[in-house]
Amino acid sequence: MAKIISGTEIGRAMRAEIAVEAAAFERESGVTPGLAVVLVGEDPASQVYVTMKGKACREIGFHSREIVLPADTVEDELLGVIDGLNADPEIHGMLVQLPLPRHIDSQKVIMRIDPMKDVDGFHPVNVGRLAAGDRDVLAPATPSGIIQMLLRSGYDPKGKRVVVVGRSNIVGKPVALLLLRDAPGGNATVTVAHSRTPDLGSVTRQAEILIAAAGKPQLITREMVSPGVVVIDVGTNRVEDPTRERGFRLVGDVDFAGVKEVAAAISPVPGGVGPMTITMLLANTLQAARQIDAAAAGASS
Ligand code: NDP
Repeated sequence: MAKIISGTEIGRAMRAEIAVEAAAFERESGVTPGLAVVLVGEDPASQVYVTMKGKACREIGFHSREIVLPADTVEDELLGVIDGLNADPEIHGMLVQLPLPRHIDSQKVIMRIDPMKDVDGFHPVNVGRLAAGDRDVLAPATPSGIIQMLLRSGYDPKGKRVVVVGRSNIVGKPVALLLLRDAPGGNATVTVAHSRTPDLGSVTRQAEILIAAAGKPQLITREMVSPGVVVIDVGTNRVEDPTRERGFRLVGDVDFAGVKEVAAAISPVPGGVGPMTITMLLANTLQAARQIDAAAAGASS
């Protein structure tokens, strides 16, 4: 029976560490890390995330700013808000909650964020630095959380055959780049599969570590993995469930019940990668605050 890799527990432990590190940094530098989250419109799921991010910040003593703009906000106005946050010395990290309303060009918005404050790691400068193997880059939160889950549960990807299912810019590609990087949590031999990969099972069976990020409920079955595999299930899929009050439940991309019989370890959904994402945003905000402070000190010396 597989060991359970709990993102809830790892995330909790990491937040306690980040709080201690942030307090030490504040004593040295006088700087309190600050995160701003910008939401355009009233999408209920996005509102929940924004509230959760604000709460997580306050719990560990960061400044938090939540900016909610009406759905009909014009692009220039949003860009003006970003310019204000770029210039704000209390804010070290910012993110704009995606998806944005259709009349706003997301890429233009992402491009406007100061790369040093881009805690989502979506700005092309940070995407490029990650692809180039830079160890100091602000890397996207969900992929960084996956790496921490592996490292902190004793499954260092170094030298392992890792298969990533999914090639999105948010999860699949950046996690593959982190796994390839010559840095802690990297140095793996990485294969990336996607919807055009024939005979997916023949690829996933080669994995010593399998990362499923396809957004397809229970795509990965017991027959598709080799005994002893370590599985991180990123998938967060709603499936109808009339027995639940809200009418649905969340399932991953992996058939948890079947795969846990043969895997060495597996992360659950919910309680796996989900709780790690906000934790890594906090880690990135602290990293951004340190880097901005160091750059300011360098500029004034
Ligand atoms: P996308 O839909 O952007 O990408 C899905 C990827 O999976 C694509 O590359 C697609 O291939 C591939 N894929 C789809 N179907 C198959 C298949 N049958 N076989 C092999 N590959 C397939 O999703 P995201 O990367 O944004 O998210 C993936 C999952 O992770 C979702 O369930 C999402 O909800 C979840 N997620 C969870 C987060 C968290 O827990 N914090 C954060 C982000 C995402 P192709 O490119 O060929 O279309």
